[in-house]
Amino acid sequence: MSAVLFGVFVALCALALALIDRRRVALRDAEISRLDAEREADVAEAAATYEAASADLREARAEIVQLHLLVDELRCGNLGAFVDDELSPERAEAFRGHLAVCERCQAAHLGLLQQDAIVSSGLERRDAVVAAALAWATGGGPIGAILDAVAELER
Ligand SMILES: [Zn+2]
Repeated sequence: MSAVLFGVFVALCALALALIDRRRVALRDAEISRLDAEREADVAEAAATYEAASADLREARAEIVQLHLLVDELRCGNLGAFVDDELSPERAEAFRGHLAVCERCQAAHLGLLQQDAIVSSGLERRDAVVAAALAWATGGGPIGAILDAVAELER
């Protein structure tokens, strides 16, 4: 092989190596671009998943608030049975806990207690009239006691 041919051979080899290097760099750049795009897609997907999970969580919280309100309303509905002593011990205990924090039930409870006191007082006064009348009718009591009891009843 002449020196000229050898020089051309070396130059062609160098050119081929340079082309191979350029191709490698191009492939590496393409791979880097592909990985970047993949990473961006993953980030977007993670953000969408997070957003969806947050929306689900907000919805679940709103449902829990609604359920608490519903339970409170159901407990409020137990007031009459509580006052009439018709609740089981467990439900009465639960209602006492509710009563401690529910202003609506506290006000209604006070009203019912006052009504009960008024009714009880009226029944006692009526019973006093009946007792005085019976005592008078059986000869054991003065008629004035009946009049006093009636006056008390009308008070
Ligand atoms: Zn209540």
